[in-house]
Amino acid sequence: MHSPCLPPAMEPADLIWRDGVPESTRFGDVYFSRDNGLAETRYVFIGHNQLPERFQQVPDTGHFVIAETGFGTGLNFLAAWAEWLKQRPADDNAILHFVSVERFPLRRQDLEKALSYWPELSPLATELIEHYPPLIKGTHRLVLAGGRVRLTLYFGDVLDAWKDLTFFADAWFLDGFAPSLNPDMWLDDAIGLITSHSKPGTTLATFTAVGRVRRSLAEAGFEIAKVPGFGRKREMLAGIYAPGNTTNQEARTGTVAVIGAGIAGTLLARNLAERGVQVLLLDKAPHAGSAASGNPQGALYVKLGVEYNAQTELAATALSFSQRFYRPWQNRFWHPTGLLQLATDDQEADRQRRFCERNEYPDNLLEPVDAIRASELAGIPVDTGGLWFPGSGWLEPAKACQQLAEHPLIETRFSYQVVNLLPCNNQWCIRNHSGEDCRADAVIIAGGHESPALVPVAGQLRLKAIRGQVTELPEANFNLPQTVICGTKYLNPVQGGSAVTGATFDLKDETPYPTPAGHQENLDELKRILPSVTKESVPDPDQLQGRVAFRCTTHDYQPVAGHMRDTEGNHLNDLYLLTGLGSKGLVWAPLLAEYLADVISGQPHCLPAPLSKRLETGRLYRT
Ligand code: SAM
Repeated sequence: MHSPCLPPAMEPADLIWRDGVPESTRFGDVYFSRDNGLAETRYVFIGHNQLPERFQQVPDTGHFVIAETGFGTGLNFLAAWAEWLKQRPADDNAILHFVSVERFPLRRQDLEKALSYWPELSPLATELIEHYPPLIKGTHRLVLAGGRVRLTLYFGDVLDAWKDLTFFADAWFLDGFAPSLNPDMWLDDAIGLITSHSKPGTTLATFTAVGRVRRSLAEAGFEIAKVPGFGRKREMLAGIYAPGNTTNQEARTGTVAVIGAGIAGTLLARNLAERGVQVLLLDKAPHAGSAASGNPQGALYVKLGVEYNAQTELAATALSFSQRFYRPWQNRFWHPTGLLQLATDDQEADRQRRFCERNEYPDNLLEPVDAIRASELAGIPVDTGGLWFPGSGWLEPAKACQQLAEHPLIETRFSYQVVNLLPCNNQWCIRNHSGEDCRADAVIIAGGHESPALVPVAGQLRLKAIRGQVTELPEANFNLPQTVICGTKYLNPVQGGSAVTGATFDLKDETPYPTPAGHQENLDELKRILPSVTKESVPDPDQLQGRVAFRCTTHDYQPVAGHMRDTEGNHLNDLYLLTGLGSKGLVWAPLLAEYLADVISGQPHCLPAPLSKRLETGRLYRT
């Protein structure tokens, strides 16, 4: 019996193992052949899609997209990744995209066991397992091999995946279980959707030669051939979509300007540069990370909704992506200490109780803890329980921005205050306060609350600035935790003798410097949620250090990332907006930068359409 899960948990694969080969109890079929599954993958999927030759032909800043039905153990993915590394020079910028769907994902320990069968794939398997997402419904982008390989893993049903995802495949791996045991994967509907993600010259290969599948594929527009199968299998199918019309992929060239060197702008600049794009990063300040991203410490925190709706899915996707994304930056500016979201009053305790009743999250993403466990985790006494996020932590945002901006393909221009954006000869002219121009083929405005002044459209954008003041607590006067603590305020672990707490949320205050009243508010609220925080003597608020910055929020408190539109809904050519991240920029920015870089470079999107729609710029106009 399989017990149903509450959202967003996915029902995991139920396996039995025979001679080291995993078999699905649900479908009664093996994940890979007993007669050398890796050799079969290479023969059926890699060979019959002519991948070795086609991989070599991808231009340096181009990409190649494989789409697969049924991720299973990831063997096909690893084999394709290994082939990509074999065919491509070590220093190129081309990207292998692999888009796959899985309705019953393997648990991490099963994935480890299944992949241990293939010692020659071991380094790649280790990297995949490290990045394997929590088993929650939705779309997970894994950035692997330093960005040269990108896996878009949709946890859900195949029909939903092909309806929701945006991509065009160069090659298909059709790899459900046998059609007689797994009919859903091979329905005409599923095959119809495959064609909607195919283009002239897209190839496919599948281990099956069943007549019904062959006819469906042929009716959908593939020219299909029966060819000899692997090992003892007599036949398999290989095909090509709309043959004869093949177009060569044009690699994108040109310069992209990013205005604003905060966390959103620097992450986007870095993401594009790592894809081989020449980037111009502009900011009016003398260095990166000077405004809202300039705090010495910031928590990787997002509050997940009680209902698992699209808004919660977007937030959970961003949180899990950011935790994977920052991993390589550990100890440079990322500190994965874990994070406690305390139930600091009755209302929040009730909210967390309803959250836990209605949802099921894997405990590698979050788990409820009582006050005793919370105190052990925090390393200081905590009066209430809450939710524990083991993969979260805190960042040094200013340092992050500065380090991210350092890349050979990023040219920085600081103290460059943009005053005007003008279309000129199919480019954008970016004029500064002294009347100097620089040009770019595309522009992304990531200027936080100053973005509206830069957008060259009529009509008011519903973006506003909200003042936030943080306070630095000296270690000598406060008991500081070893994890991040969040409630109505947050508190970071100690760094360099103090820890940052905050922030105020001042809707109508424009004071640009810290005030004693702001420090007092931060202290009072922190003492309420964490009474053990103070030692005997607490400094006067006017003795405390702090910092003020202005967050940019939208009318609906959801971020914006996408093509800039005018009030009529038309796209402005090659102009994009990335802002409105509010106080959750550290969580939102990695995923939204990845998404915008996908859009700008014409690569498969890391977000499904129902979620990316929520980010659109057009909603900023009052209707
Ligand atoms: N390609 C995999 C590998 O390299 O290990 C093997 C795939 S296995 C033969 C087929 C996979 O399809 C299983 O993991 C199964 O759970 C998945 N699957 C079956 N029906 C599905 C559906 N309707 N939607 C999404 N995935 C499905």
